[in-house]
Amino acid sequence: MVNGHPPRPERKIIHIDMDAFYASVEQHDNPALKGLPVIVGGDPSRRGVVSAASYEARAFGVHSAMPSSQARRLCPNGIFLPVRMHRYREVSDRIFRILREYTPLVEPLSLDESFLDVTGSEKLFGPALQIAREIKRRIRENTDLTASAGIAPNKFLAKIASDYRKPDGLVEIKPEEVRNFLRDLPIAKLWGVGKSTEEILKGMGILKTGQLAAFPAEKIEKKLGNFGLELTALARGEDDRAVQPESGAKSISQEETFTPDLENLEQMKKVLLDQAEQVGWELRKQKLKGSTVTVKVRYPDFTLVTRSFTLPSPTDQGIEIYRTAMKLLPRTEALQRRARLLGVGISNLFHRDDPEQYRLFDSGRKKVEGSVQAMDRIWEKFGPEAIKRATLMEKNLTAELAEHAEAGMAKGSWPRGQAKKRRTERKKDFDFPK
Ligand SMILES: [Mg+2]
Repeated sequence: MVNGHPPRPERKIIHIDMDAFYASVEQHDNPALKGLPVIVGGDPSRRGVVSAASYEARAFGVHSAMPSSQARRLCPNGIFLPVRMHRYREVSDRIFRILREYTPLVEPLSLDESFLDVTGSEKLFGPALQIAREIKRRIRENTDLTASAGIAPNKFLAKIASDYRKPDGLVEIKPEEVRNFLRDLPIAKLWGVGKSTEEILKGMGILKTGQLAAFPAEKIEKKLGNFGLELTALARGEDDRAVQPESGAKSISQEETFTPDLENLEQMKKVLLDQAEQVGWELRKQKLKGSTVTVKVRYPDFTLVTRSFTLPSPTDQGIEIYRTAMKLLPRTEALQRRARLLGVGISNLFHRDDPEQYRLFDSGRKKVEGSVQAMDRIWEKFGPEAIKRATLMEKNLTAELAEHAEAGMAKGSWPRGQAKKRRTERKKDFDFPK
């Protein structure tokens, strides 16, 4: 999501990444395993997947996310161990307690990986490099495990830096070194570049990050859409994303770039419904609800606009997100100017079991939630295509859901018992601020 904050110069971001975390914990807990190829993950005889491999196992080409059966072929003498998540969590808690002593701005990415924004901590604890060195030392003393640390002006570069001299690495990329550092980096190291993107870029003669940085952005965009623009920014070392201290997502969104541009209401409706349903699905999957719906439009001249509206009560329902998006769309010029990119997202998220923030919903909404839960089960079973067809094609179902959602929305805006009395004012409540 675009948040409108100007990029802060001179940030100091540290990325801490434990080395072969699960496997190292196993080797620590059973010293007889030290120096041996330890592979933590699913059972190789049953379609398991590798969760972590010790450096001794990596020497055989074993890596995480690889089928365990393949790992066994590569490393027949590997010691396969089941995942002991509970134990890794314990160790992880100890590590995070250390990290939070240096800044409240700690963003966990997983049990063993996190970003720290120490820009404001340097006065107290010394330069970022010194903080990172101290954190590494304390982690080692406290857990007997090694971590790699990267220090850089932004998240993307900090992550690249921590990976640069693994294991037990400590690498700082200073602002003036960014360009040189990125020049010869293989494009596969850029966030989000998988096999297919790599192939496309190689097809354009782009093998190194420096080549991508120097390439005309419009040409990349033509091939890869908005994602291409994001990649180009990363390749130039630009990444303004803030370190977000709480775990979990801050917003959930869907967006897509279209060639040719979307030019009529019917097309846009279809896209927004589809995206809103996916956002709703993602919210429910993560047991979240959100209240601020945002529509994002990029016009053919590349200008980007966003329009937001905060619902009277939070939702995880795609249809409600869609209806709000449809109210926001006329506040853009998408219909007059066409849309190169269209997207919808939701923010102001919280866990739906959080009793403090979660208001009780009326029976109308419950009914919607019931049918949506049924749709989620179909989705889980048959994938998004099945449910998309059901939603987009069965107009009656959509209309029914919409009706319930509207009832829920209207009642949700007022305290119980006042809904009827104030119903006439309801429309006003949905006027958008000028
Ligand atoms: Mg790690």
